[in-house]
Amino acid sequence: MNDWQLCGLSLRPGEKRQTVLRVPMEGTPNGGSIGPGSEKRGREGDYEIPATLINGARPGKTLLVTASIHSGEYVGVPAVIRTAAELDPAKMSGRVILLHCVNTSGFWGLSPALVPEDGYNLNHGYPPPAEKRVGGRIAAWFLRELLPQVDFLFDLHGGSQSETMTPLIFYPDAPGVTAEALAAAKALDVETLVECEGRDGEYR
Ligand SMILES: [Zn+2]
Repeated sequence: MNDWQLCGLSLRPGEKRQTVLRVPMEGTPNGGSIGPGSEKRGREGDYEIPATLINGARPGKTLLVTASIHSGEYVGVPAVIRTAAELDPAKMSGRVILLHCVNTSGFWGLSPALVPEDGYNLNHGYPPPAEKRVGGRIAAWFLRELLPQVDFLFDLHGGSQSETMTPLIFYPDAPGVTAEALAAAKALDVETLVECEGRDGEYR
């Protein structure tokens, strides 16, 4: 089994690595993460997304798990961090990309949902418009670097600041996707499943 190449990194079979993935933000005057250490990077630094990459000991599907696409929906962040700590690559088939907190500038900036630098909603508007120079670049990075590698995307949202929610799963209704997405949703311990006809979300 070959090493896994992702975002300029290489992982051996059976390896787990905690890292920071970097979205290039050259030429973006208000780009770069807000948060501890950001003052040292200057205002044109890369946008940093904390992540854990797990390359299972045996071949299989690749799963992408994302939290804090909407930065005020906090519950996904510790859920992803705990999951990353618990998973044992020696017992796993396939690969998992866990993004602990995607909208890091919104998280540190206390934004309820949007990327604060440009007001972009990472849950809508794919492909991203060119004028969205921070959130749009994160979305373009998803399309370019991550989505071509993955079989499933599991995106964690939560009511948090906006609303009260019961646990539920949206699964996409789209050609060539619905049956497998529904099968994956049914494998999880959540009773409420909602077929989603959205056409411009990052789950598309
Ligand atoms: Zn949300």
